Amino acid sequence: MTTQLPVPTRCAGRPTLGGLVVPWITLHAGGRYLFGALDKDRRDRALAERRCQVCGQSFDERICLAVRPADIRVGYTAEPGMHPECLAYSVRACPMLSGEATRYRATPASSGLPGVAEAGHGSRAGCPADAFDAWWITPSSYRVKTDPEHPGQLLGADVDMPVLRKRPIRPAAGPDLDSMLALARQALGLEDSTANCPRQPDGAPQLRNTAKEDD
Ligand SMILES: [Zn+2]
Repeated sequence: MTTQLPVPTRCAGRPTLGGLVVPWITLHAGGRYLFGALDKDRRDRALAERRCQVCGQSFDERICLAVRPADIRVGYTAEPGMHPECLAYSVRACPMLSGEATRYRATPASSGLPGVAEAGHGSRAGCPADAFDAWWITPSSYRVKTDPEHPGQLLGADVDMPVLRKRPIRPAAGPDLDSMLALARQALGLEDSTANCPRQPDGAPQLRNTAKEDD
């Protein structure tokens, strides 16, 4: 757990927390950085000033986006673009992108704090983790989408543009299998032991197994 990830040169000047680079758009509140919470002002500035959300610097010839299926449905991703090397670092450092996290936090660390930007479209608290793909685009394709009903309010980066390359970052987290099975058993009126126990010969007492599995 203490293995240090190599930090991109661009991020060398960024503060770190637990050995990990704090992204430029991470919320700083109450004297500490809150990983996973976006500072709305910084998020908006990164979009408007065309800065990388991780290192805060300007883009070069390629911009990367981390895109979820839900982003494609609404036409934008709420999170600003990144340098390819900054995304590569994030994929290893961020539990949601690395696949380590299977669920969004039920209560985000930023809950109740002012100046927090939504990282998605509506609340994802407690939901299974989404799939993410990495998109490579040119700076000329990078456009900011604004809210048509609230001009001046930035929604995020437009995802309706030519993409040079797409690569999966992580798959969506599957449903909680134990919970699904429990619900299915309940719905079917089956006992807990049915799926796991060896087949009993006809006439064998069933209760013994049921009791054993219920412990
Ligand atoms: Zn960067």
